[in-house]
Amino acid sequence: MNLPGEFPAGPEFRETLRTGARRAHDTGEVDAASLDALRRSGLLGMMVPRDHGGWGWDPAAANAVIEKIAVDNPSIAIMVYLHCAVVVRIVKYGTEEQKNRWLPRIARRGQLVASAWSEPGSAADKRTLSTTAQRDAAGTWRMKGGKTFSTSATVADFFIVLVQLPATHETAHAAEPAYGGQDQALFLVDAAAPGVHVPPDALDMSGMRGSGTGMVQFQDVPVTDGDMLCSGSATTEAIQLPHRLGLTLGAVSVGLAQAAHDTALRHARGRDLLADERYRRQLASTEVAVRSARAAVSDLTAGSAHDRVLRAYCVKVSTSTTGQTVCRTVRGLLGSAGYLHAHEINRISQDADAVMHMGPPTHLCLDLIAARSTPADR
Ligand SMILES: Cc1cc2nc3c(=O)[nH]c(=O)nc-3n(C[C@H](O)[C@H](O)[C@H](O)COP(=O)(O)OP(=O)(O)OC[C@H]3O[C@@H](n4cnc5c(N)ncnc54)[C@H](O)[C@@H]3O)c2cc1C
Repeated sequence: MNLPGEFPAGPEFRETLRTGARRAHDTGEVDAASLDALRRSGLLGMMVPRDHGGWGWDPAAANAVIEKIAVDNPSIAIMVYLHCAVVVRIVKYGTEEQKNRWLPRIARRGQLVASAWSEPGSAADKRTLSTTAQRDAAGTWRMKGGKTFSTSATVADFFIVLVQLPATHETAHAAEPAYGGQDQALFLVDAAAPGVHVPPDALDMSGMRGSGTGMVQFQDVPVTDGDMLCSGSATTEAIQLPHRLGLTLGAVSVGLAQAAHDTALRHARGRDLLADERYRRQLASTEVAVRSARAAVSDLTAGSAHDRVLRAYCVKVSTSTTGQTVCRTVRGLLGSAGYLHAHEINRISQDADAVMHMGPPTHLCLDLIAARSTPADR
């Protein structure tokens, strides 16, 4: 697709991301040069409205950029995706004061925001949380609890934090699968706020090792009503917002599938394998898979918004499966060369596996799809 304006993916930017991806996979840390290039590129502000200093890009353009970044550096791509998913929530649910406080920090200073929702022991549907916010005698909220698997945690400038509020009514969980629970709220919290502790080491994950995915502790953190982005039913709506807009992690899976396909193509050229019809046919099959997944991502934002949330869950499942399938086919094409530990297909495969575990993971998407696939939705 045509991007609205110059995508700053000049050869230098792309090379920084590419070499950074390899380095980060070895060290398990966010690559400093890649993050610095990202902050300076302006891309973190691509979805910030122009009147707050950003580029005002829509979800289709953001998906396209995220896919391109994922080809070179999937860890940076998930950081950008999750960051954009917060930006659109601030734009939609923020007060003017909140927009003026947070959006220019992103657009003008290249600040990065992370989502702190998952908890050790909490299920993917986030219906029950142990991180709480309660008012003290002076009326200030006090946030307590611990989050895990927060992408960008080790380098984020601020967090969007999902918390449980004191119950306002008899909470009976809906029998239907849901994403988010009752009496919950989202707060925006500065990483430097008193009581916020981020262990410097990221989780030692198999894939997405350069994404700074880690833990965050909130030890009696004072927050005000002015820090609350939304609460109650608006919180479950806000959780769904990226899906409602068509902003999708599927873009990352498409970029990963493209990277795997490109790896097979380079291998074939290097070994003069393209003369072999069987090899060409296999490459054609991975190309079909990549193009179909890209079309599914584009279709999300094209046309009507009718049942887009349902379609977004379908695209999340299908594209992450495509990412894994293309990697598996390419490993077969590479033979024993691809079985060497240092071969890039192994990093790409591990990164592709990660996407299906990311929110909403495949099992939750399937539950949500099953609950929504009534004849009336079709
Ligand atoms: C790379 C990466 C980045 C992430 N980034 C973030 C982030 O930025 N912020 C954040 O808050 N979280 C993040 N997460 C966490 C993610 O969002 C998941 O929600 C979280 O890990 C919990 O999901 P789960 O599937 O592991 O847990 P559970 O829901 O407890 O499921 C555990 C396992 O049980 C099985 N299972 C459970 N229910 C069903 C069912 N109905 N049907 C079939 N099987 C079922 C599944 O096999 C599942 O794997 C990230 C995770 C990863 C891997």
